[in-house]
Amino acid sequence: MSLLELLFPPKCPACKMRKAKEQVLCRSCLSEYEKEKNRLCPSCKNKRSRCHCRPRQASSAVFAYLSVFRYRENTPGGRLILKIKDQKQEQITEFLAEDLCKTLQNGCILKSDALITYVPRAQRSVLESGTDQAKALALALGKQCTLPVVNCLVHDKDGREQKSLSSKERHAHAQSVYHLREVCGDLGGKQVILVDDIVTSGATLSACAELLRKGGAGQIICLCAGRR
Ligand SMILES: [Zn+2]
Ligand SMILES: [Zn+2]
Repeated sequence: MSLLELLFPPKCPACKMRKAKEQVLCRSCLSEYEKEKNRLCPSCKNKRSRCHCRPRQASSAVFAYLSVFRYRENTPGGRLILKIKDQKQEQITEFLAEDLCKTLQNGCILKSDALITYVPRAQRSVLESGTDQAKALALALGKQCTLPVVNCLVHDKDGREQKSLSSKERHAHAQSVYHLREVCGDLGGKQVILVDDIVTSGATLSACAELLRKGGAGQIICLCAGRR
């Protein structure tokens, strides 16, 4: 053990207890996280890998909505997502990307032309926290499953946070906030994996998916770490 580790022992991001340096979560949080992943979907009673439930504001442009676990703030998984929202955390991002990759491979048939894109965060939030968590997850996922990551969408308003809006407002807000980058003008019928950290109502993902569809995307699959 190095002196640095002796003075500042690595701590579990979920419970703040000591953990092994090479592990992301301590042993007990890891086992809680694994249980959480295997928890049956409360709506369809299927395992997450077999759950095809669509969020409230689903779009017909989206072929499937996949997620790794049910998001709850006080669970290890929920805490990991909060961590990467606040600051750059490569170890946690890679850990979550590994599960995103498995969820993607189990949940759909990947086509040879598949590409990954993500729901971009508002510029102001990126400046404040120094990180765009969906982008970071998408890049790490691209490495994990060797798929190209293309920056297709722009978030061009620094309006209110989605979570302060009613569900009707969310839809209109989401539709006014994003647009397709010109370089992504023609997605040529390709399979597009749209990544975000959490899906709540589905309004944001749906608005982004509709833009991708207008841009020529073929099958669109939404992939999130947590699902509320
Ligand atoms: Zn822990
Ligand atoms: Zn379900």
